[in-house]
Amino acid sequence: MADKRAKRIAKFIKPLRVKPGSQVDLCDFDPRYKAGMKKREGIELLQTGVSLLAEYQARLAAQDTHGVLLCLQALDAGGKDGTIRHVMSGVNPQGVHVTSFKVPSTEELDHDYLWRYARKLPARGEIAIFNRSHYEEVLVVRVHPENLNRQRLPESALGASIWDRRYREINDWERYLTDNGFTVVKIFLNLSKEEQRTRFLKRIDLPDKNWKFSAADVRERRYWDDYQEAFSEMLSATSTPWAPWYVVPADRKWFARICAGAVLAHTLIKIDPHYPVVGDQARRDLLATRRDLEEEAPEGAPADPYKAEHGLPDGGDEQ
Ligand code: ATP
Ligand code: MG
Repeated sequence: MADKRAKRIAKFIKPLRVKPGSQVDLCDFDPRYKAGMKKREGIELLQTGVSLLAEYQARLAAQDTHGVLLCLQALDAGGKDGTIRHVMSGVNPQGVHVTSFKVPSTEELDHDYLWRYARKLPARGEIAIFNRSHYEEVLVVRVHPENLNRQRLPESALGASIWDRRYREINDWERYLTDNGFTVVKIFLNLSKEEQRTRFLKRIDLPDKNWKFSAADVRERRYWDDYQEAFSEMLSATSTPWAPWYVVPADRKWFARICAGAVLAHTLIKIDPHYPVVGDQARRDLLATRRDLEEEAPEGAPADPYKAEHGLPDGGDEQ
């Protein structure tokens, strides 16, 4: 059963994965693509993904060996927040950390550019979600080079080759993380310009959404083409066999959420974490403790209330 679900998910996300080494032009990706799916079927698939995630996250935490980093990138109104909310709806909040990366602080700018991201990496057993990520360092920083001036790099670290160097450094960093038990997976929510316009207008039209509206976001829209180019180059250079990018069609929120859930579920399935099995001695110790606890049963109470309630036979090593 789990295997069937795993196969279905793997097949579903395959077309979204950016093949390492391929040249990406975002124009080739349709933000309205929905794999011929109806919304109703989609919701059912999302539920499958969410229950799988809950199951695998519990095992990831129990095994305490691997960690997962999910990076989410999108242009404004791309739906990052809603995606995180829906995809993570079934998991234990103790095992997940979400960090939103904004304009860097003075302290952050006083360090190398990966410093603030490194501080928020997952521990073993955890899933960390980056809402915006180290990829801002080759996106907004590239589109608005004044951000680079604020980073106060030495002369020798500047120049036209800086972006290729950053791609290499990011790939190397992710490789290092992967080699040490931390899986990195990256999702780009691919929104169309027209859908972004519609979402901005909705934020103006509906009073409940006014708080979400930002004039700065509309100003940023003027750089749409520059961003598309920066995204295309970044996807081409940093989708690696160890940390692939997935381009998720984002014009339909429900579809984007299914895709993101499926990508994360697939990642966990591949890690395949297991509950630790206790050794023979530890098992014998458990049984001895059980005998002690059974002897403490008050008058009239079953020796082992759990066993009694679940109809398990007395004594022995059954669980
Ligand atoms: P929301 O609007 O849904 O709250 P958001 O991610 O857009 O989410 P904002 O506070 O609106 O959050 O924007 C954060 C801003 O920080 C973005 O414009 C982003 O480009 C900018 N930013 C993130 N990382 C960097 C960076 N390294 N250098 C410069 N700007 C950055
Ligand atoms: Mg914003």
